[in-house]
Amino acid sequence: MGIFGQMEQYGHEQLVFCYDRSTGLRAIIAIHDTTLGPALGGVRMWKYEREDDAVTDVLRLSRGMTYKNAAMGLNLGGGKAVIWADPRTEKSEALLRAFGKFVQSLGGRYITAEDVGTTVEDLTYVQMETRHAAGRAEASGDPSPVTAYGVFEGIKACARQVFGSEDLKDKKVAVQGLGKVGWALCGHLHEAGARLIVTDIHPELVDRAVREFGATPVAPAEIYGVACDIFAPCAMGAVLNDETIPQLKCRIVAGSANNQLKEPRHADMLRERSILYAPDFVINGGGVVNVAEEFHPVGYSRERALARVATIYDKLLRVFQIAEERNISTAQAAEVLAEERLQRIGQLSRLYVAE
Ligand code: NAD
Repeated sequence: MGIFGQMEQYGHEQLVFCYDRSTGLRAIIAIHDTTLGPALGGVRMWKYEREDDAVTDVLRLSRGMTYKNAAMGLNLGGGKAVIWADPRTEKSEALLRAFGKFVQSLGGRYITAEDVGTTVEDLTYVQMETRHAAGRAEASGDPSPVTAYGVFEGIKACARQVFGSEDLKDKKVAVQGLGKVGWALCGHLHEAGARLIVTDIHPELVDRAVREFGATPVAPAEIYGVACDIFAPCAMGAVLNDETIPQLKCRIVAGSANNQLKEPRHADMLRERSILYAPDFVINGGGVVNVAEEFHPVGYSRERALARVATIYDKLLRVFQIAEERNISTAQAAEVLAEERLQRIGQLSRLYVAE
């Protein structure tokens, strides 16, 4: 399908191709929907194999941000950018600043932030050229601990839904990925008395979790089949698929990873197996809420950000309620929640107010 065909199919507003001959910057900025406000979403730096892969990724990711921002109750639309480069070898001050200039040229329709392959420090270069960048080191900083807190609150909501109590004491939680979010999540779970089963492709992280949290280690491929109450994917996407879902021996899937379902139908597969799925863009929305707090009239406050992130608990309960009432998967219910806000707030533009 051509690019306009894809934009039409998924409702994108704008796709901006950015090239700078002096730095070799090749970036694409996708603005999916600005009904709720300027499109906010991070910039991913990735060495895509083909140009088409970069286009598909930025279109898919920007649409996801519309739903995530709406579900989190933010006045922000959905956007995302990709820089087609290897973050380990091709990153430079000039490249990041060239990207910043293109962001600035959009006049605030797109607000950038960090994502896979970019760091809070990289953002300081982008910010030299644009006012439209969030997630500054001296403001909200690394969102991961806040994301982990939101996931923890979300897991408690899932436990309440399935076990009738949010108490996680002695609940077995299998955590896939002990990176920035997974590690912080393990800390919360350990403190709450949960029993951890962990895996990572880096053995030193696993050893540390065994030492610090008394976790039980398993090999990366074994995590899907371990008998547990909750499976928390905190590594990569597409981990819920035809091969892994039949292996699951849990009652709940709730973790931070983005795009956990390989295809939408995998949400139905989980439902058929009576496994409660916490839709990723709701349970992992803490990071974007944290960044969005930078736009508060009196500036960023960690306390306010955490209070807002704690509402993920109630948002998930609402998602589960919608799913039950409409007899749909929780993934579909989360989209309903987001669409409700897009519609309700979008309609306000009917009202004329003189500037
Ligand atoms: P990270 O890179 O710090 O951690 C990921 C961890 O997963 C690493 O330790 C890595 O070794 C491990 N891993 C990779 N492949 C694995 C495999 N096959 N099996 C087991 N472990 C594996 O990333 P992060 O910031 O902690 O993010 C984790 C996930 O949460 C990602 O999907 C990310 O998109 C999503 N997310 C993160 C945030 C945030 O605030 N950082 C916000 C929303 C969503």
